[in-house]
Amino acid sequence: MTAVPLGLPEVPVRPVAERRVSRRIQVGPVAVGGGAPVSVQSMTTTRTSDIGATLQQIAELTASGCQIVRVACPTQDDADALPVIARKSQIPVIADIHFQPKYVFAAIEAGCAAVRVNPGNIKQFDDKVKEIARAAKDHGTPIRIGVNAGSLDRRLLQKYGKATPEALVESALWEASLFEEHGFRDIKISVKHNDPVVMIEAYRQLAAQCDYPLHLGVTEAGPAFQGTIKSAVAFGALLSQGIGDTIRVSLSAPPVEEVKVGNQILESLNLKQRGLEIVSCPSCGRAQVDVYKLAEEVTAGLEGMEVPLRVAVMGCVVNGPGEAREADLGVASGNGKGQIFVKGQVVRTVPESKIVETLIDEAMKIAEQMEKDGVSGEPAVTVN
Ligand code: SF4
Repeated sequence: MTAVPLGLPEVPVRPVAERRVSRRIQVGPVAVGGGAPVSVQSMTTTRTSDIGATLQQIAELTASGCQIVRVACPTQDDADALPVIARKSQIPVIADIHFQPKYVFAAIEAGCAAVRVNPGNIKQFDDKVKEIARAAKDHGTPIRIGVNAGSLDRRLLQKYGKATPEALVESALWEASLFEEHGFRDIKISVKHNDPVVMIEAYRQLAAQCDYPLHLGVTEAGPAFQGTIKSAVAFGALLSQGIGDTIRVSLSAPPVEEVKVGNQILESLNLKQRGLEIVSCPSCGRAQVDVYKLAEEVTAGLEGMEVPLRVAVMGCVVNGPGEAREADLGVASGNGKGQIFVKGQVVRTVPESKIVETLIDEAMKIAEQMEKDGVSGEPAVTVN
C-alpha cells in the first residue's frame, strides 16, 4: 500500500495578461475595474413585471455563476417591479433603460445596483444628464453607457456612414463627457457590435482613450454555437491585452448558457480559478476505447463538482499515460483495460467496463478529502 498525497490541484496564478489600469466602480457588492476580478453578467429573458418569474431566473443564473444580472425596463409595470427585484435578488441588478429617461430615475430610486443607458436611444437624455448625475451620485449608483451598433446615434451614423469603431467610441465618450461636466465618473462603458473584428477594434480604441472600466459584449452574437465562438474569440483577443472588466456572452439561447460560456472563457484565460476540467483526447485510429462516450460519461458523472480537479480521459497508450500523469486524476486505456492515475501514479488497473465508475469514485474521494482537510491540507489516497 502506498500513500499518494493528493494536495490541492495547482491553482492557476498567471492570468493571460496584466490587466489594463481602470477606474474602480462598485456595482452593489461587486467591484468592477481597478484590478477587481473580471465578472460574468447575463440578462433575464422574462418580463421584468413578472416578479416571480424574474426572481426565479435570477436564482438560476446565480446558481450557474452569474455575478451581475441585467433586467429590461421598457414599461411602467417593469419599473414598478424593480424595488422588489433589486431587494430580493442574490446578485446585483442593473436596470436596462432605453427611450424613457423617467425609468432611469425610477431604477435609481428602486435601489438597482446600476443603470444602463443607451445614448442612441434616449433622445431627451442629454438634457437630463445633470439630474441623472445628481440622483445617481446621491444613491451611489453607477451608470453604464451602453453603445450598440444597432442603435447608434443618428448624428454619428451620418458622420461615419455606419457603425465604425470610431463612431461607437465617439458616441460613448461624448455621453461620458456630459456626465463628467457634472463631476460624475462612476461610469462603465460598452461599445458592442455583432462583428468581432469591429468590436475588438472599438474596445481597443476606447481602452486607449479613457480609464473607465469596460463591459465586453459581442451583440447579437447568434445561436449558441456561433455566438460562443464569436464571443470567445473577441473576448480572448481583448482580455489577452488586459482589456475588459465585465463580460456578457449574448446568445440566442437560455441565459444560463451565456453564464456557463462566460465562466469557461475566463477559466480558459486563467482569469478565474478553474473548476472541473476534463482533458480528453480527440481520439484517432489508435484509440482502443470509445473516447467520446467515456469523456461524456465522466463529465456527466462529475457534473456539479466544484473542486478544481483536472481529469484526463485518454484513448490509448501513446499520449495517455503522459497526460494522465499530469492531471490530478486520469485514465490511459488499452487492451480492454484502463490504468487509473491519481496525482501521477497508477493506483489501479480496471477492466474497460469499470473505468467510468472508478474515475468517479476516485474523484469523489479526492473532493471529500479536500473538503475535510481544507484547501491547504495534504490528504492521501490508498493505492491497491
Ligand atoms: S491519446 Fe491515443 S487515441 Fe487519443 S488521440 Fe492520442 S494517439 Fe489517438
